[in-house]
Amino acid sequence: MTSIIGHWIQGRHVTGSAQRTSPVFNPATGEQTGTVHLASTEEVDDVVASAVVAAQAWQRIPLSRRTAVLFSFRELLHAHADELAAIVTAEHGKVLADAAGEVARGLENVEFATAVPQLLKGGYSEQVSSGVDVYSLRQPLGVVAGITPFNFPAMVPLWMCANAIAVGNAFILKPSEKDPSVSLRLAELWQEAGLPDGVFSVVQGDKVAVDALIAHPQVSALSFVGSTPIARYIYEQGTARDKRVQALGGAKNHMVVLPDADVDMAADAAVSAGYGAAGERCMAISVVLAVGDVGDRLVEAIAARIPRLHVGDGTVPGADMGPLITAAHRDRVAGYIDDGHKAGARVVVDGRSADLPDKGFFLGATLIDDVDASMSVYQDEIFGPVLSVVRCATFDDALKIINANTYANGTAIFTRDGGAARRFQSEVEVGMIGINVPIPVPVAYYSFGGWKASLFGDSHMYGPEGINFYTRAKVVTSRWPDPATSTVDLGFPQTR
Ligand code: NAD
Repeated sequence: MTSIIGHWIQGRHVTGSAQRTSPVFNPATGEQTGTVHLASTEEVDDVVASAVVAAQAWQRIPLSRRTAVLFSFRELLHAHADELAAIVTAEHGKVLADAAGEVARGLENVEFATAVPQLLKGGYSEQVSSGVDVYSLRQPLGVVAGITPFNFPAMVPLWMCANAIAVGNAFILKPSEKDPSVSLRLAELWQEAGLPDGVFSVVQGDKVAVDALIAHPQVSALSFVGSTPIARYIYEQGTARDKRVQALGGAKNHMVVLPDADVDMAADAAVSAGYGAAGERCMAISVVLAVGDVGDRLVEAIAARIPRLHVGDGTVPGADMGPLITAAHRDRVAGYIDDGHKAGARVVVDGRSADLPDKGFFLGATLIDDVDASMSVYQDEIFGPVLSVVRCATFDDALKIINANTYANGTAIFTRDGGAARRFQSEVEVGMIGINVPIPVPVAYYSFGGWKASLFGDSHMYGPEGINFYTRAKVVTSRWPDPATSTVDLGFPQTR
C-alpha cells in the first residue's frame, strides 16, 4: 500500500485529479512508499485564485497579529522537529541527525522572520522643505511562489515562506516531486499556528505546475532553488513576464588546503563536507585543491577516515551516510568513478566496493586523486559522495582554478595564515566563503547566494535580501501647512 500525496489548498488536503502521478520512494529500501499527484494548469490556477483572495486579507492584518502567528509557528516547528526530520529521512534518505540539522537551519529563518516589525521599519526625514516630510515604507507583493529542490525539502521552503508570509504575502510552495510529504506537514503546522487559510498553499507537481506558476499573471514573484539549467529557465521565463525572480542554481565547491593547514582538521572537514548527506548538498565540498606538498598527507588522511563512515539506512542509529535519492541518480554518480579512471585520475577509494546494504540506492564514499580541470569528474556537478583532489603548486594556481569555474556557490580555505585567508576572501569570485569552515552557509540574518551559474538575478535568498525581495519600497513626500496657518485650534499660542 502506498500513500497518496496531494495538495494543500484553502487550508485542507486536496487530492489532485490524478491525471498524472509520480512515484515516491524510500531510498534506503528502494520501495515505493507514495504516489504524488502532479497538478494540471487548471489546478494551479485554482490555487492561485485562492491565494489572491487570502493575500488581500492577510496584508491588512495588523503587524502585531501577523507576528504572533510567526511566533506560534516557531514554537510548533520546535515541538515537532523530530517528527519533521523523520518525514525528511523517510523520503530523502539522509540520516536522522542530518535531517534534524536541516529542520534546525530552517527554523532559524522563522526566528528571523519573527522580527518583521523591526525589519519592515522605514525611514523618516522631517522638514526636508517647509512643511514637507519624506518617509519610506515596504509593502508586500501579493502572491509569491517557491519552487524547491529535493535535497532540502524542509529547509529550503522555510528559507522562503517565513519571510514571504511575515511581510504580508500569500505563498505557494511547489516542492520537489521526489520528497513531497514534509511540505504538507509544514502546511498543517502553519494552520495550527493561526495562519488564515490560503496564505500558505502547497501544489505538488513537475514542469507543468512550474510553467503554470510562471505564466500566471497574478503570481508576482518566483523564488527558485535547484539545478542550473532549470534556474536559468525560470529566471528567463519569469522575468520575460515581468516577475521578480531569484533563482539559485547548482554548485561545484572547492576547498583549498594550504601546506601550513592542520591536516587532521582539513581531512575531517573534507569528509564531513564531501560525504555528508551523501554529497547531495549545494554547499557540499566536491573538489579539494591540495597546495604544495600537503597533497600526499591530506589524501592519506582522508582515505584513512572513509572506512569509518557507516553507510546505511538513515533511521538506524550509527549510520553516518544514507542513500542517494533515486537508483538512476546513484548510477549516474557511480558512472563518474569510471569516467575519472578512464581520464587518467587515480581512484583511491571506490565507493562501489564499499560494504553497502543490499537494497536501496546506496553508494559508498569515493576519493579520486590526480584529477585535473579537463576531466568530467571535475567539470560537472556530480551531486553524490565523490570527492576529487586536484594538486596545485601554489596558492595562486588554486585561486585561478576556482575563479575559472562556471559555478560559484561556496568555497573554503584551510590555513593557519591570516594573510592568505584575507587575500582569499578578497580575490576569490564566489558568493559564500569559509575560512577553516568547510560549509559556510550564512546564518539566517545574513543572506544566502552564490555568484555566476549558481545564481540568476541579483537577490540572494532569506535574511535581509529576502525581506527586500518579497516587498516593494514606497517613498512618500508629504506636505502639511505650517501650524501657524492652520484653521484648527491647536490649543497653543501661535507665536510664529
Ligand atoms: P531540479 O532543478 O531538478 O529541480 C528543482 C525544482 O524544479 C523541483 O521542484 C522540480 O520539480 C522543478 N523542475 C525540474 N525540472 C523542471 C523543468 N524542466 N521545468 C520546470 N521545473 C522543473 O533540482 P533537484 O535535482 O531537485 O535538486 C538538486 C539541484 O539543486 C542541484 O543542482 C543543487 O546544487 C541545487 N541546489 C542548489 C541550492 C542553492 O542554494 N544554490 C540549494 C539546494 C540545491
